[in-house]
Amino acid sequence: MYSQNKMVYRVVEKHANTYKVQTHSGVKVARLKGSYSYTINSKESLPCVGDWVETIDDESIMLIEGIQDRKSLVSRRASVNATVQQPIAANVDYVIIVLGVDGGRNYSDRLLERLLTIAWNSGATPLVVLNKSDLNDASELIKMQAETVAFGVDIINCSAIDGTGIDTLLSYVSDGKVGVFIGPSGVGKSTLTNRLLDYEVQATNSLRMKDMRGRHTTSGSYLFELKNGGFIVDSSGIKEVQAWAFEEDLDSVFEEISCLSQECKYRNCQHQGEPGCAVQEELEAGNITPERYDSYLHLKQELAFLDRKKNEKSSHVQRQHDKDFGKLVKTTLSRKKLVRQAM
Ligand code: GDP
Ligand code: ZN
Repeated sequence: MYSQNKMVYRVVEKHANTYKVQTHSGVKVARLKGSYSYTINSKESLPCVGDWVETIDDESIMLIEGIQDRKSLVSRRASVNATVQQPIAANVDYVIIVLGVDGGRNYSDRLLERLLTIAWNSGATPLVVLNKSDLNDASELIKMQAETVAFGVDIINCSAIDGTGIDTLLSYVSDGKVGVFIGPSGVGKSTLTNRLLDYEVQATNSLRMKDMRGRHTTSGSYLFELKNGGFIVDSSGIKEVQAWAFEEDLDSVFEEISCLSQECKYRNCQHQGEPGCAVQEELEAGNITPERYDSYLHLKQELAFLDRKKNEKSSHVQRQHDKDFGKLVKTTLSRKKLVRQAM
């Protein structure tokens, strides 16, 4: 409770300009309140599915006038070179990394590292799903390999087709917990989503869910409630999720390298030929694979590039701001001059 006609609700659908929130009496359309939308200075502060928003209901329309603090945020770069973060889902508990073990767009250590970086960066707990296990007898071996990359992260062997691992997956996404699938296209994210929803439709015979799913188009984002009390985010935006990560997340993925780097002679060692570099010593000793070392350096460079672009951008915004201010002063002065001349 927030006040009489002021309530806090969860966003369950987002389209270009409208939102839907779950109220006690069903799902209602909501829009951003004008005065509130003026205060939004970055895409990141726009509400997205999973957000708890402060609303006022003036009977004709529900208006959003604030967002409650997010415990996690899954976002993507607006485009390949963009430095703007676009929120996709808030307050997610599990970022479920899906990779296929079928040999096509299949599992790779590098891809897993990249997706783990995104997952850690969101503030949610990563979970790895190795899907299409029905197509590979050696899926347990791939799981063991994945365990060496995803330290301490739970990994589930799944098949959206024969149902392997689905119950285990459902045991995570239950009781109010929110999950979102990320991963390259073709690995089975939609099929898994449907599988979780189908399970619920069958279990509850819920027409509402079927209706929602039927109306469900390719644009927009949705938060679906499962019968076990869990939630699944389904969003077209998530399909294009791109690396948006920061260095400290890289450190949690390459834990052994970041630990080692504390033993390097120089504090800002780049591990690329400096004397007394502990990372290179381990590399030469064969304790770090060259692939993992390359992947680490590559991601580090990419993140540093993003960081630079972000800084350039903010200084550009500042410059533009200064320029605009200068212009305003000039026009105001010349207007005053004109007024004086006219008098
Ligand atoms: P998305 O792009 O990640 O959403 O992938 P889709 O869910 O569209 O799946 C891509 C293709 O893989 C479809 O033809 C699915 O039927 C198939 N597929 C998905 N999951 C499985 C699985 O567990 N086993 C097999 N054999 N095929 C699967
Ligand atoms: Zn070093």
